[in-house]
This record gives sequence, C-alpha cells and structure tokens, in this order.
Amino acid sequence: MSGAPEGNVEARPATEVAMSAQSAGFAESLRAAGGAKLARSAGFAKSAQSIEVLILGGGIIGLSSAWEAAKRGFRVTVLEAEEFGGQASGAAAGMLAPFSENTESPDAFFRLCADSHARYPDWVRELEELTGRSVELRGSGSLNVAFHEADFLSLRARLEWQSRYGTGFELLGASELRRLEPELSEQALGALYCPGESHVFAPKLVGALEEACRRAGVRLVAHAGRVAGLERVAGTGVAVRTAGAGSWLADRVVVCAGAWSGFVREWLPVDVPVHPIRGQICAYDGKGGRIRHMIFSSQAYWVGKKDGSLVCGASEDVAGFERSVTEQGIGRLTRWSGRAMPYLRDVSPSRGWAGLRPATLDGWPLIGSVPEAPELILACGHYRNGILLSPATAAIVGDLLQGKNDGYGNVFGIERFSPAGTTRRGLG
Ligand SMILES: Cc1cc2nc3c(=O)[nH]c(=O)nc-3n(C[C@H](O)[C@H](O)[C@H](O)COP(=O)(O)OP(=O)(O)OC[C@H]3O[C@@H](n4cnc5c(N)ncnc54)[C@H](O)[C@@H]3O)c2cc1C
Repeated sequence: MSGAPEGNVEARPATEVAMSAQSAGFAESLRAAGGAKLARSAGFAKSAQSIEVLILGGGIIGLSSAWEAAKRGFRVTVLEAEEFGGQASGAAAGMLAPFSENTESPDAFFRLCADSHARYPDWVRELEELTGRSVELRGSGSLNVAFHEADFLSLRARLEWQSRYGTGFELLGASELRRLEPELSEQALGALYCPGESHVFAPKLVGALEEACRRAGVRLVAHAGRVAGLERVAGTGVAVRTAGAGSWLADRVVVCAGAWSGFVREWLPVDVPVHPIRGQICAYDGKGGRIRHMIFSSQAYWVGKKDGSLVCGASEDVAGFERSVTEQGIGRLTRWSGRAMPYLRDVSPSRGWAGLRPATLDGWPLIGSVPEAPELILACGHYRNGILLSPATAAIVGDLLQGKNDGYGNVFGIERFSPAGTTRRGLG
C-alpha cells in the first residue's frame, strides 16, 4: 500500500507554518505563510490541467473517481486516512447485481446501477491492460432462489419488469433449478435466473485501481489521518488540514470517505447524512467450485471465487463504527449456508470479516456538488452497491469536475435531504 506522497504531479502541500495552524482561519495562515500555491479562480474557465482536485478517501469510489479525473486531465491527489481499500471496499463480496439489488421498479437508482454494470467490461479491460492485473470479472449469472411459495410473488413481479431491460431472464421450477445448481437443497423451490449479472474480486479491483491511479500520475497519500480542518477559501477553493499528512489546498475537493463522510458537518454548515451499517461476511475455502452462479436468498447470498473459496454474506447491523465480527452474525450465515447447500451443513467458515457500508436515509448514494459550497463534490453513501456503482460514479464525478450536469437531473444530490428538497420517498 502507498506511503508518503509520490507521483509525478506537482505537489500542493502547505507549509510547516500552515500545518501547525489551528482550524479556525487556517486557510488564512496558509495564505499568509505564502508557501502554498492558492488557485486564483475556482471557475470553469481554467483548463483541467491547472485545476487541483483533492479526493478525500481511498476506497473504490475515491480511487475510481481519481483515475477518471486524471484521465480527463485534472491534477489529482487522494488523501486516504489509513490504507487504500482498507475499509468497506476491501471487505465487499464484489457482486455486480443491478437486477438482484433492485427488486421494485426501474427507477433512477436502477438506471444508475444498470448503467454502471454496462460500463464494467470495457472499464475492467482498460484497467487490466493498463496495470497487467486481473480483477477476476466473471459473468456467472445469478439465481434468486425461492425457499417459500410466497417468494414467487415478488420473483414473478421482477421477471415482468426486469425482462424489459435484459435478456435471458427465466423463472425456474425446482427441477430446472437443480439442473443448474445440483448442490442446492431440496427446500429450494425455484428461482429467478438472471444470466447477465457478474462479480469481481473486490480487493484485487481496489489494488488495480490504486496502480492505475499511480500510472495516471495521481498523487496517492496513505495514512493521512482524519481531516482536522476544512475551510473554503473565498472564491478560490478549499483548504484541508489532516491529522497525519499536513495541509493541502485545492480548487475542488471530492468527499469519498464512505461511512465517515459525515465529518464534513464538523467544518462546514453542510449535513452529509451518511451512517455506517456493518456487514459481516465469511468464506469457506475450497468450497466455491461446486457453485456455478451467484446465489441470492432472502437471508444470505453465496458467490464462488476464482481462488476456490465460497463467500457468504452478509449481515446488516447497526453497530456504530465497530468492525468486529460477532458469533451471532457469522452463526446466522453458517446456519443458512447449511440449509441452502447440504454439503456445507457441518462445515465452519474458514474466516469471517466485516466492513462498514456507507448508508443514507433513502438507500441512494449521494453524488453531486454541494449548493452551499460548489467547490465540494460528494461521492459517498453507496451502501450495498459501491463496487457495482464505481464506474458510473467516477464518470459523474468527472462530468461534475468539468462543469457538466450528472445526466440524472441531480436526483442523487444532497438537495433531496434539505427541508425544501423533494425525493422519491417524500423526505423533506
Ligand atoms: C460485507 C460487505 C459486502 C459488500 N458486498 C458488496 C457487493 O457484493 N457489491 C457491491 O457493489 N458492494 C458491496 N458492498 C458495498 C461496498 O463495499 C461499498 O458500497 C463501497 O465499498 C463503498 O466504497 P467507498 O469508497 O465509498 O467507501 P470505503 O471503501 O469505506 O472507503 C472510504 C475510505 O475513506 C477513508 N476515510 C475516512 N475518513 C476519511 C477522511 N476524513 N479523510 C480521508 N480518508 C478518509 C477510509 O479510511 C476508507 O478507506 C459490500 C459491503 C460490505 C461491508
């Protein structure tokens, strides 16, 4: 993982004087110290090559946005509080499931998921060619399994609308299902088959993105610590002070701090309503080869990885910023694994881990500029789908940096949580 600042882009860290400045008015201190180059204008008249973009957070969203911004000519720095990919992105199962994750209707969130999924093959090809690393993209397809007659109701409803957006969907009966997945238990009554869904190995994807950023000239700073000051600099940009990597000045700041993104409210009058939802997950080494598809049920999912492991996830619990696994959380997954696949009945998972999903009040991500501070762009709150949504999010961040609109009528913007805001779920 990356350490001290490196890369071939001109640095804009602030001076020692600034680093010791207190949070109130520290941008003023930076300016007075004269050691940091402040942008003259935050307007879009400047060319991308002269615009400094500071990305806060080095998970999948920060890294993919950084790579995209660098490809579009911006000068990009990523400050990661700890290790790149060390939080939710490294913990994820890596499923790319726009249909299984959208069971109700083809709304804007479904369109975003489908758009991102459609981008994946080319995005991964470019990433793998550039870095020489495989991210193990596999078009396994998925099976949403019914263990109760009542489950068929929602599967039928899904089949009806989802088959307009993809091909090969099928509602399978028990015998057809077992032909596709012989290891499923007799209790599996049928399934909705969705051949288009796929998955990646999330830690490898994060590693490849880190490498792609490096090759694209992005300055990567790990162990920067938490933000200890963030201040708008009148008409020019934003000053950011970190606990571990000094102070930085930039024309634009993109907040990609996952479950921690609410930190912004400590420094600016902007409430970023993101909170952590813990996901506990486990893996059975050597057991993945017997399962051919991603399998979803109402209680758990299973996905076989190239290394032979079978990943089973995941709990959704409220535990603050606690990332430990519990006996109860992993125990529930183990019981369900044995029920769904009898060959796992007496097998304990080889390992368990947990990550903190960045959740918003309505389950949709927050992607957009902040009206009260237009130099600030939010790209956070991706909850259960940050891996799936990374190429589309990066493209939107790139567009916003270039002063374009997001192509979605700003429905993912923070305005939806303001008192005057309107959302699909009637918040505000
Ligand atoms: C168990 C589990 C399974 C999942 N499975 C899937 C899946 O199959 N498919 C899918 O699409 N999604 C999945 N997800 C969701 C997905 O992992 C997240 O939506 C995604 O990783 C969010 O990415 P991120 O970059 O926003 O957040 P993170 O990966 O959490 O990255 C945020 C980064 O910001 C850093 N940071 C925090 N504060 C600061 C600060 N002040 N300054 C600088 N850096 C800071 C953190 O250290 C962290 O590295 C899963 C999540 C979990 C927990």
